Amino acid sequence: IFLDEVDAYPASADEEGDPVSLAEARSLTFAHRRKVFLVSTPTIRGLSRIEREYEASDQRRFFVACPHCGASQWLKFERLRWEKGKPETAAYACEACDAAIAEHHKTAMLEHGEWRATATSVDPSTIGFHLSALYSPVGWLSWERIARAWEAAHSSDEAIRAFRNTILGETWVETGEAPDWRRLYDRRGNWPAGTVPRGGLFLTAGADVQKDRIEVDVWAWGRGLESWLVDHVVIDGGPEHARSWDTLAALLARTWPHARGAEMQIARCAVDTGYEAPAVYAWARRQGFAQVAPVKGVEGFNRASPVSGPTYVDATEGGRRIRRGARLWTVAVSTFKAETYRHLRLDRPTAEELAAGASFPPGTVHLPDWVESEWLKQFVAEQLVTVKTKRGFARLEWQKLRERNEALDARVYARAAAWIAGADRWPEAKWRDLEAQLGAGDDAAAPPSDGVLADGTTAEPSAGLIRRRTSCGRRVFRSSYLG
Ligand SMILES: [Zn+2]
Repeated sequence: IFLDEVDAYPASADEEGDPVSLAEARSLTFAHRRKVFLVSTPTIRGLSRIEREYEASDQRRFFVACPHCGASQWLKFERLRWEKGKPETAAYACEACDAAIAEHHKTAMLEHGEWRATATSVDPSTIGFHLSALYSPVGWLSWERIARAWEAAHSSDEAIRAFRNTILGETWVETGEAPDWRRLYDRRGNWPAGTVPRGGLFLTAGADVQKDRIEVDVWAWGRGLESWLVDHVVIDGGPEHARSWDTLAALLARTWPHARGAEMQIARCAVDTGYEAPAVYAWARRQGFAQVAPVKGVEGFNRASPVSGPTYVDATEGGRRIRRGARLWTVAVSTFKAETYRHLRLDRPTAEELAAGASFPPGTVHLPDWVESEWLKQFVAEQLVTVKTKRGFARLEWQKLRERNEALDARVYARAAAWIAGADRWPEAKWRDLEAQLGAGDDAAAPPSDGVLADGTTAEPSAGLIRRRTSCGRRVFRSSYLG
């Protein structure tokens, strides 16, 4: 039996169970003569079937000898070295003598190489082989092209994941381990509470509805979905109090001053329906679905479309039921939690690099110095763990490390709001338009986005989403795709 790309198989074939076990069962008749091959590009650590099988095997690696010192070794990506920005200088550093092994040695190395077990099989009749693209024969995928692919992938998580899976033949570790809140505390930026730093181009909010309060975080988003926490508001009183909803409505009507002088309104606010859905539907209906998106979180990863909907659900208005009177979006919260944690781990340019014109990598999450340690603890309150289901399948699941996690939930909803607003799919022209409305993009010498706000303008209600101060008073700009 030859089973190809087993990591792409579903955990269960309908209700029949694990498709690999089902296939293997068909070969039992042939007892000692049977052979079962499982082959695959690995996917996610903890979910990967091929990794599980390989780890239970004798874990063979292909050993080759260094042409300089003769030391036998298997090839690891970490030892492929090149000058940054010059993949053509790629060479392999021998792990024994550290001498550079050039590509042209590969043919002879492969010819004299051999498979060696690096572990003992759980079942002696099982053997496993691992091979990465570093072993590609000359003329196929060269070390130079691998180095080039890595440099090209470097700014995008999805590209790095594809690189690890397909070039290195390694699983991708979902960065589900919670970042340390103290590290986040130490690198907080400085902009006043309730103000939007220069890089922020639109605002979204995520509202987490609890029994006795509604917690709202306002996030600014820039190019590459770089983000800044702009405000943290706790509305006392639960969803059964009309006053709580009036306060939330007032929050959506007010504006936040941008570092360049404009006034910005929240483009989209996603409200969690998990605690008291009818109250959210009724309020969202009054408020209008252009600005408000009721959301329902579901477990699981969905990279193709982390948000789906809207679906139409019933709402009540003055005690009367209105069929399909409200809209509801479904959010794959795991995807956005994992993305947030990945983005929190991104390397930041040093002050020196920033001064030389470097920018923060896409997705960088900026947190302000007015945010308290309790908020930070909530922000990193969960971690991704692998759990076994009742039927023995591995599944990734987010588990709470602390009781309170509102900051993380609110962030996920605010991120979903950005997705619903369309930010994941905007063409370059739309980003340019947003910059133009804020008067950005025309000053190349703009300080880095973590910079201090120049002036603190007063906030007042605005009909438009972006209000810009001009020499002859105020003009209101409404963006066609945010309104
Ligand atoms: Zn050597």
